[in-house]
Amino acid sequence: MTAKPPLVAVLSGAGISTDSGIPDYRGPAGLWRRDPEAQKLVTYDFYMSDPEIRRRSWQMRRSAPTLRARPNAAHEAIVRLERSGTPVRVITQNVDGLHQMAGLPERKVLELHGTARAVTCTRCKARSEMAAALERVAAGDPDPACEVCGGILKSATVMFGESLDPVVLGEAVAVTKACEVFVAVGTSLTVHPAAALAGLAADHGARLIIVNAEPTPYDGRADEVVREPIGTALPALLERYAQDVSRGSR
Ligand code: ZN
Repeated sequence: MTAKPPLVAVLSGAGISTDSGIPDYRGPAGLWRRDPEAQKLVTYDFYMSDPEIRRRSWQMRRSAPTLRARPNAAHEAIVRLERSGTPVRVITQNVDGLHQMAGLPERKVLELHGTARAVTCTRCKARSEMAAALERVAAGDPDPACEVCGGILKSATVMFGESLDPVVLGEAVAVTKACEVFVAVGTSLTVHPAAALAGLAADHGARLIIVNAEPTPYDGRADEVVREPIGTALPALLERYAQDVSRGSR
């Protein structure tokens, strides 16, 4: 009888998706933080109170590369690890849905900031596809309303000024406490609460591995810090881990 391999948690940030052509919008140096006018388009109060902001926000979503992006080698490496029989959970700060598109089951991905692939009604909470809403925009509706109740529709992402979903956050904390290995990849570990999860993992005895181009505030607590490009570093790291597990040295 062989023991079940231990749980691997992967916390992913914008850096994992840059190879897929998606820039960092939300991070400390992200586009939205540097441009107050752009940030208004994704700030809840501005969005809800101003139809012109909504019109510009829908146009921004039409031109954003997110829905056209494809998963890259790093997303695929996580899927390979999961398919090798290692229990894997991904906690992501990204809204691009690329972990699922690469083949991870929906239930294994916790999206801290929601998803840009869906829209939700701010009144009745009905949810539908972003692509369908953008088709209505393309067809001439500058601010498509909820087709159920007529309420204001918004991207199913967590806007500035909105709280994270407490259920998703609670699951992320549980995964973080339970995992044996916690890999933070492509995240500056400066935006909370995602950042604090790295410290929580270390507090609970997980092996903390940080894969990021720039130093992070948690590097001093990490068991391993990798500065190489994510597209090659993460596949190599996860491959090595899977081999260690299959040899029984973990
Ligand atoms: Zn509605």
